[in-house]
Amino acid sequence: MKTALVTGGNRGIGEGICRVLAERGYDIFFTYKGGIYDGEEQFRNEMEKAEALVQSICNEYNVKCFCKEADFTKEEDVEKIFQTAVEKMGEIHVLVNNAGYGIEGKLRDTKSEDIDKEYFVLLRTPLLLMKHAANHMIEKEIRGCMVNIGSVRASRAFPIDCIYGSLKAGLERATQSVALELGPYGIRVNAIEPGCIQVSPLKEMVPFYENMGRNIPIERTGTPRDIGNTVAFLCSDDASYITGQTIRVDGVSCIGTGIIPLIVSMIAG
Ligand code: NDP
Repeated sequence: MKTALVTGGNRGIGEGICRVLAERGYDIFFTYKGGIYDGEEQFRNEMEKAEALVQSICNEYNVKCFCKEADFTKEEDVEKIFQTAVEKMGEIHVLVNNAGYGIEGKLRDTKSEDIDKEYFVLLRTPLLLMKHAANHMIEKEIRGCMVNIGSVRASRAFPIDCIYGSLKAGLERATQSVALELGPYGIRVNAIEPGCIQVSPLKEMVPFYENMGRNIPIERTGTPRDIGNTVAFLCSDDASYITGQTIRVDGVSCIGTGIIPLIVSMIAG
């Protein structure tokens, strides 16, 4: 039985990753931040949504699934979260650093605490989790895989994107160094750059995504499963010679003129 630890696995891209890996027989441990849930009305908070997903994964895919609340903007004990995943599943074969949120705005208006929080979530936590996963995999002689979820905004610069974009670029760059360090142990480390992925379950967001889709060469926005399928591929034996790479999964929206300026301007309002 293979196992995967996925951060931010309760919704959006993370849920897509958890579902695809579970479908392929992985036991899953995912984290969620907690607090108010702004998606489907049947859930009162993030915990209810996360627990419903645990049940759904166990029932639909006949694997084990666990979840734990963790807010990475705080001085969370990342090692403790990793150890809890080990206690629940025995071994960790796959780590997916997915949790994240975007902030957009001019550097001149930015507060230092916003930079610190974003750094904790987008770079510090993934680095620490890769450290703990590496030590665990080496000790147990697991030829495991790590996948970091970056963003197309890591490799295309926009004026109101200096914090999120630069931290995602840092994560993708870290992926290369960690891949070099862990290659001799048979541990592969890759990153994915999602483009515009339809993550909101809210009906009022449908026109937004339809408008985006019309501007993407492949004529649709991406789905969480698109990213989940790429994670599953990167963690499979079919990708056994791929490491230290970033795969862009964006419906070719970044080549040519690209639609990312449109996306960023729509997000920023
Ligand atoms: P969602 O908002 O749907 O999900 C984000 C996940 O990260 C949730 O599980 C959330 O937990 C968790 N999270 C957010 N903040 C924290 C925190 N402070 N501590 C711990 N966990 C946290 O986002 P997406 O699915 O869209 O994004 C997933 C990843 O993909 C992110 O890294 C994002 O940057 C990246 N990405 C997304 C794109 C897109 O188009 N959607 C494009 C490019 C990259 P909770 O639900 O409990 O708040």
